[in-house]
Amino acid sequence: MSKQGNLSIHSENIFPIIKKWLYSDHDIFTRELISNACDAILKFKKLCDLGEATDTVGEPFKVTVTVNEKEKILVFEDNGIGMTEEEIEKYINQIAFSGAEDFLEKYKDKMDQDQIIGHFGLGFYSAFMVAGTITIDTVSYQTGTAVKWTCDGGTTYSISEGSRETRGTTITLHITEESKEFLNFYTLSQTIEKYCSFMPLPIYVVDACREETAKDEPTPEVNEEDNEVKAPEVVEPKPINDTHPLYTKQPNECSVEEYKEFYRKTFMDFHEPLFWIHLNMDYPFRLKGILYFPKLSHELETIEGRIKLYNNQVFVAENIKEVIPEFLLLLKGVIDCPDLPLNVSRSLLQNDGFVKKIADYITKKVADKLISLYKKENEDYKKFWDDIAPFIKYGCLRESKFYDKMKDYLLFKTTDDTYVTLSEYLETAKETHENKVFYVSNKDQQSQYITLFKENGLSAVYLEHSIDNPFISHMEMHNQGVKFMRIDADIAGALKGEEADKTHEEKLTGLFRKVLNNEQLKVSVENLKSQSVPSMILVSEESRRMQEMMKMYGMAGMGMPM
Ligand code: ADP
Ligand code: MG
Repeated sequence: MSKQGNLSIHSENIFPIIKKWLYSDHDIFTRELISNACDAILKFKKLCDLGEATDTVGEPFKVTVTVNEKEKILVFEDNGIGMTEEEIEKYINQIAFSGAEDFLEKYKDKMDQDQIIGHFGLGFYSAFMVAGTITIDTVSYQTGTAVKWTCDGGTTYSISEGSRETRGTTITLHITEESKEFLNFYTLSQTIEKYCSFMPLPIYVVDACREETAKDEPTPEVNEEDNEVKAPEVVEPKPINDTHPLYTKQPNECSVEEYKEFYRKTFMDFHEPLFWIHLNMDYPFRLKGILYFPKLSHELETIEGRIKLYNNQVFVAENIKEVIPEFLLLLKGVIDCPDLPLNVSRSLLQNDGFVKKIADYITKKVADKLISLYKKENEDYKKFWDDIAPFIKYGCLRESKFYDKMKDYLLFKTTDDTYVTLSEYLETAKETHENKVFYVSNKDQQSQYITLFKENGLSAVYLEHSIDNPFISHMEMHNQGVKFMRIDADIAGALKGEEADKTHEEKLTGLFRKVLNNEQLKVSVENLKSQSVPSMILVSEESRRMQEMMKMYGMAGMGMPM
């Protein structure tokens, strides 16, 4: 049996296109070949379940990738369904004709569509990004005879008798010089871990050259002291993947320790997450995942979130803004959504109503979790607040829906070391400074004022983070009548003592105008109720904000009246 033929494609030569098109991500060939291998096994298992096939080989289902640096080859092996010559003709030679669709069409009533991974569209041919010649040696469960297909990346292929002995498929890639990095065992392992760490069947990565040297090693020496022959250490090979990642389980089947362990393993982050949300829904779309709230450091710039997106346990991409609301990218997590149209470009995703629904769902779930923490584990919520506040505030600024849900559960840390909501703060402030929220923007610089406040039984709130400036404006905009005042501004109203001696005012006006060289300056003198603070300068909230704004726009020094 030997045959030559032309690949049926419409373009003159598709390979230069494939190579160019996919260039930036050329490591995805591992994902494509391994997901095909998993598909092939899942299909065979399904046929066995249906009684349409029997497993005569009887070995565990697995995918093995062997790298041989010396021979410059990568071998992908599976004990799945295999292919007949006709199937090779149909599925491999007719590029872009997806065999997965065919299989699903045939078994659509009996098959859970989720189980078939292949619909990424890049497929088998992506292997030509890294390989010159590729051979497929395969034995179908139907025929039991091996067929070999060879193609050197041109538009012709040849088919001959294969040498594979048992059911399944062996794909050999002859790696090109430009792609030799994949012949490095560690590079290859890392790539496979990136894309395949949650794939549903065990995947082994083997270094053929190391196996060889291990075999060549001299027999172990006799240990003189105890006269014992030390057996060479037999290391059970371990699959590189977790075939049942935690997020695929039901939330009530997962323990706290398992959540933490999954976090450590997946993100290599050994700081414990604060808490997490297990997403699990089937309708109106399928989505599973776990979102973790990491401990945030104090400046937003340093937060590095990571949300990994999967499609049926196959890694797709990280931090896709179109699917995951931007503010949630500060979290760490995994999301698996088999319904996502992942073949389409990002610009299409942006305008996809379905994608928007996913983003809305995730936002809602995050808000629900926070609200339930507030209601049921209020102590914890307060304890976490300092860490999660920047994230929540950022979310409120970015997503009005999120703000609407969260607005009654935003906390303010007070100078009395309590955590209160806006309405709680305003309630206690009613007598002394109605509708005004006094805040500290810098604990150290404003310590005098804090003392003064405490002396008078008043409390202010800490708003010291870089996100707090825009957050304050946001809160004022959405809470009609409420004004935020820095603790060194306009507190006179709340703390005014007896009528002040107005002669001081004249003298001080003269002095300040001279020193600040500003004849327009208005100075007023008030008596403050305080024993410990002799005097202090207050700058009105409005003029300070105006100044800050001008500084921001580079108009400093324009001599605003204070
Ligand atoms: P897709 O996976 O989207 O169908 P591919 O180009 O990745 O597209 O693969 C084309 C077809 O080739 C598969 O659907 C399958 O029928 C067949 N195929 C590829 N790899 C294997 C394999 N390892 N075992 C059996 N069939 C395979
Ligand atoms: Mg495929």
